[in-house]
Amino acid sequence: MRVAGALTALLLSIAAVPADAHNPTPAPYGRSWSITEVSAGSTYDWDASVPAWLKPYVQDVLQTQWASSTTNNSKHVVFRQQAGGSATVYFTNSTGVAACNNLPGWLGCASGAGSTAWKIWLRRSPGQPWCQLNLVSGCWDVERIGIHETGHIGGFLDHMDTSESDTVMTPVPANRPESGWSTHHLQRCDEARMQILYDVASLAGGYANCFDHIPGHGPTGLYSVVSAAAPLTADCYGAGLTLTGRLSVKTDSNYGALSGNSLPSRTVFLDRRPMGSAAWMIDYASVATDGGSSTNWSRTFSVSGSSGVTTYEFRAHFKGESGLDADYSPVVGLTWSNPC
Ligand SMILES: [Zn+2]
Repeated sequence: MRVAGALTALLLSIAAVPADAHNPTPAPYGRSWSITEVSAGSTYDWDASVPAWLKPYVQDVLQTQWASSTTNNSKHVVFRQQAGGSATVYFTNSTGVAACNNLPGWLGCASGAGSTAWKIWLRRSPGQPWCQLNLVSGCWDVERIGIHETGHIGGFLDHMDTSESDTVMTPVPANRPESGWSTHHLQRCDEARMQILYDVASLAGGYANCFDHIPGHGPTGLYSVVSAAAPLTADCYGAGLTLTGRLSVKTDSNYGALSGNSLPSRTVFLDRRPMGSAAWMIDYASVATDGGSSTNWSRTFSVSGSSGVTTYEFRAHFKGESGLDADYSPVVGLTWSNPC
């Protein structure tokens, strides 16, 4: 639940909240980290209130789960625990914690989103026990609460009132044994929002499967665009004619940092048909995209042992993947004639 008017106080509460139902549209909150700040990273240290048992779990959330490339292919600030670090983690009850006091049932809260002096509080005595100390029905997983607070301070993420499989930013978290009670890493819509804000960590990596609600989306995700062209479209038999093209995310201002991204390490399929035929030979050839900037794939074709004029038409096809929709290139004709 966000307290009205208090932009620095973000609370996770067990109190019932009015559902402002909305789709998991990527939406920012507070202040984002600059690219320079993301590169520099963020150090934190323990307040004296943090007990020894809690530290490995908080470190796991901030340094392993948050940064896991298998669950989060977004650029993100790197957290590092360090004596005298700029940010602070607390373990305390509400007394004296102004940012948390607005909700009597808070489990965790955070302030200073997007600054190196961020603070995260975890509640020393929640109404039900922490699962790491007492694995009973109704307990709270401290890492589930921790990844939510990390989303606030590190991800520029606002609350999102959808399912636990979409996000860890639900205002009211799941507790054991509800679905999602033990989730320790970002979910697909959290990743989607961070990718739009900060870009992907690796161009060759995956896109989040939660772009089906932003303006300008495709049938299931972001539109892709595959182009195909040939600098030379006619030559003699035996000579190679080369198709070149680029597979990318569509250029669209709604796509934020992802707009126009090259899509390396994907497969582009090439369909072929004789000029004048309606029937394509599907997947006649394929080629892997690479890291080129203006073009990121090329494929050379040749025809031998023929006479007269032979023209084949080609089209390139990206079949799409999670978070990215398919596309076909325009048709390009290649002609061979006369012996070399
Ligand atoms: Zn929250």
